[in-house]
Amino acid sequence: MSSDSRARLHTLRPQLLRQYDALAAQSLQLDLTRGKPSAAQLDLSNAILQLPADGFIADDIDTRNYGGLDGLPSVKKLFAEILEVDTAQVLIGGNSSLAMMHDTLARACLFGVPDGARPWHTVAARKFICPAPGYDRHFHLAQHLGFELLAVDILADGPDMVAVEKLAAADASVKGIWCVPKYSNPDGVCYSDEVVRRLAEMRTAAADFRILWDNAYAEHHLTDHRPALANIAEYCARAGNANRVIQFASTSKMAHPGSGVAAMAASDANIADAKKHIAARTIGPDKVNQLRILKLFGDLNGLRMHMKKQAATLKPKFDLCQEILARDLGESNIAEWSQPRGGYFISLNVADETAARAIELAANIGVKLTPAGATYPYGRDPRNRNIRLAPTFPAMDDLRRAMQALTLCVRLAASE
Ligand code: PMP
Repeated sequence: MSSDSRARLHTLRPQLLRQYDALAAQSLQLDLTRGKPSAAQLDLSNAILQLPADGFIADDIDTRNYGGLDGLPSVKKLFAEILEVDTAQVLIGGNSSLAMMHDTLARACLFGVPDGARPWHTVAARKFICPAPGYDRHFHLAQHLGFELLAVDILADGPDMVAVEKLAAADASVKGIWCVPKYSNPDGVCYSDEVVRRLAEMRTAAADFRILWDNAYAEHHLTDHRPALANIAEYCARAGNANRVIQFASTSKMAHPGSGVAAMAASDANIADAKKHIAARTIGPDKVNQLRILKLFGDLNGLRMHMKKQAATLKPKFDLCQEILARDLGESNIAEWSQPRGGYFISLNVADETAARAIELAANIGVKLTPAGATYPYGRDPRNRNIRLAPTFPAMDDLRRAMQALTLCVRLAASE
């Protein structure tokens, strides 16, 4: 923070404190923590509760019965189009892509992966690269399975590849990296062609290195702009590393999150390996639900029309946040924030060493924010400055009040 900004905030402090006391008296109960769809967004998919309306047969399969381990062909095709891979590369799972990521890493720990000499649990100091700020549940998942988390910075076009290449090349116990390549959580970053190419081509000390490519926001645009994303599977195959990438997506934030469909996509060897283990675990997934999702969207075009309706409810919320951030923090030089064109979050960086205090001040007047540090491995934000904002869930009025309280707390924390 510049000495000018500090002096200005110091002068303003009595006024900020008065505003804070006034807000405290309102007994607010507001929540900007998790990136959940709002009730209005969920309502857009209520038709699913009446589906399938015209029979249970799809692709000549009776969806009510056992079997179909890798999913209905038509649903595989839909996800293949979303992820830009061949239908044969796709495996449909249950309702949660996070669960598929968990199981993918858990299987790697228990049994190892194609190209691997041994199960990962036998690698005592196994490590995973975590671009940060990032998705807290990715970090927790890897930590839970015994990985040491290695933070690298997220830059404007993806992870800091110099740092990633260095870590991956140096140590065979570095087994993989988390990637959210489109509208990353929380920074809203889209990976450049150059980053995708380098991830696919880089030298890794581990022959069985894996990129967990979580394309959770592949179709979640706020505007008509659709960022191009280089095809990681093709880049990996061309570089002779076809098994390196495993991609994930789900309909969680397209329809109803608790009852959607998730998918993974990977090379023949990876898919065959996954199926071998999954076959020991289940006779088959919920194909009736797969059919419901299929009927709800029809095809990729229908899915995209549906996502436009979602965007129409979300865009005003993101715009409101941008407006309040610019109005309240724009001139003070104490904060910067992302201006995403899709995804679910806004990433706010406040003055160094003040994020935890701003969050505490907000909590004390009834405004819940994602805990300080949550977007970093082990919950440790080295500069104590990142706050993840999730504007989707609250109604506009609540969002306005929460954002005004937040910007006040950010200035108050900086003034201390
Ligand atoms: N990946 C990312 C990057 C997310 O932000 C989220 C939800 N916040 C998920 C995965 C969760 O996906 P699912 O509901 O399919 O488990």
